[in-house]
Amino acid sequence: MNAQISDQDIQKIIQSVLQNVESVLNSDAKAAQAPVKMKPASHTGQIASTVSQGENGVFARMEDAIEAGYSAQLAYMRQFELKGRERIISSIRQAAVNEKEQLARLVYEETGLGNVEDKISKHELAALQTPGTEILKTEAFSGDDGLTIVEEAPFGLIGAVTPVTNPTETIINNSIGMLAAGNAVVFNVHPSSKKSCAYAIILINKAIKAAGGPENLVTMVANPSLETMQTLIDSLKVRMLVGTGGPGLVKTLLKSGKKAVGAGAGNPPVIVDNTADLEHAAQSIITGASFDNNLLCIAEKEVFVLDSAADGLIFHMLNNGACMLDQHQLERVMEFALEANEKQESRGCSLDNKREYHVSKKWVGRSADQFMKELGIIPDSTVKLLICEVDFDHPFVQLEQMMPVLPIVRVNTLEEAIDFAVKAEHGNRHTAIMHSKNVDHLTQFAKAIETTIFVKNASSLAGVGFGGEGFTTMTIAGPTGEGITSAKTFTRQRRCVLAEGGFRIIG
Ligand code: NAD
Repeated sequence: MNAQISDQDIQKIIQSVLQNVESVLNSDAKAAQAPVKMKPASHTGQIASTVSQGENGVFARMEDAIEAGYSAQLAYMRQFELKGRERIISSIRQAAVNEKEQLARLVYEETGLGNVEDKISKHELAALQTPGTEILKTEAFSGDDGLTIVEEAPFGLIGAVTPVTNPTETIINNSIGMLAAGNAVVFNVHPSSKKSCAYAIILINKAIKAAGGPENLVTMVANPSLETMQTLIDSLKVRMLVGTGGPGLVKTLLKSGKKAVGAGAGNPPVIVDNTADLEHAAQSIITGASFDNNLLCIAEKEVFVLDSAADGLIFHMLNNGACMLDQHQLERVMEFALEANEKQESRGCSLDNKREYHVSKKWVGRSADQFMKELGIIPDSTVKLLICEVDFDHPFVQLEQMMPVLPIVRVNTLEEAIDFAVKAEHGNRHTAIMHSKNVDHLTQFAKAIETTIFVKNASSLAGVGFGGEGFTTMTIAGPTGEGITSAKTFTRQRRCVLAEGGFRIIG
């Protein structure tokens, strides 16, 4: 079976889902306590059932989302072995690929961040390149005393928190990995993406049902908040927490007393030395830094280039879709895209990074076109990325700006470049990129920066399997060390021992 939804149904389903979600969101707290039945629209069948009853995974109360996910996981483990899980995962992959344009459009319309074209690619990547059950491996120890196997077992019910920058992509990626490992998952999504996330959850539940799987293996609360997150954290039925977002979220989950996987912020530096293929470096940097308007946590956020290579790099960047801001234009961008940090708050990519400025949410994820319009620049050709030459202390170097404005810092030596890059990364140990043909230089930087992902001579996207080898993830767990998360991450190890030489076939 597959989860294909006909084109005709798609528009009707969206309308129905969004109306249902809207209805719950608009209901007051009292109404949310007492589930409100909504009349199902005849054309959408089960999908149009009540959000509060959560037949398609979207619940008015977090407690109900947890309860339903908990029961679903028990049924899942009773009824589905590895082949069954794979059938369900294939169905989810198919549904997500079929609806990648729709999902991308919904997220863009709801959040206003990034661009539809790149979001389509991200959905496809999450749907097709997230590993399933094949990544789970049993370890065996065989010797004179018998055979011992170590299997990767489910945790049970997982509580997952998602970012506004990859909301539905993370739901698809996490769901596939968590279900492959035999878990169920309850999401507390970023509030600014709750409608598109509800759509994704319903889509996934429909795909699971189409493959004969249990209801509510993947659930969410329709109206997420810090309170619903606390309910998730406190629930005894939730055995593992997985958070993708900034440092505040990771800190909160790590204080929970539960097994927590934290995927935090980055501020990825790029070093370009004078042995690099400068044209290739320029193209790669523009590809990575402009993708989805620089929303990705792995995206190039600042460049340190050896002075002897700087003019060449900038020349090729200008020839490949970049536009250089002059001093006056840069000052204007700082006026509207940054905010003074008057209360000296720790915000941004590092909690101990108290800076003079914050990025203005209004400008996060906006396009280069929107910036140029605000600046009154009329470009001769398509501009994907704005670049500027600045010093190391500049806020655009120090902050995780998530805007298509890339600062470039000239340095005199490789040692200076590495020193600056390590400092600008703020100890997140997330992602770094280097363009060089000198193996010693590449190794020197990789050792010093200690990031989870280190990309050589390619765009940052290669680090998550987009134009590079290896599987993908939307949850890069640097702070807690799991790295590129997959089904393996969402397991607990169980040992089974057959002693006294049992099962040994050699003497
Ligand atoms: P965010 O930290 O503002 O929000 C992420 C999630 O955490 C949301 O669901 C939000 O509601 C919740 N949250 C926010 N502050 C919280 C707190 N103090 N306590 C508990 N929950 C909290 O991040 P965002 O703006 O949604 O996403 C962008 C950030 O996420 C960037 O810093 C980016 O680098 C990071 N990110 C990391 C990865 C990764 O794999 N490591 C992937 C995507 C995004």
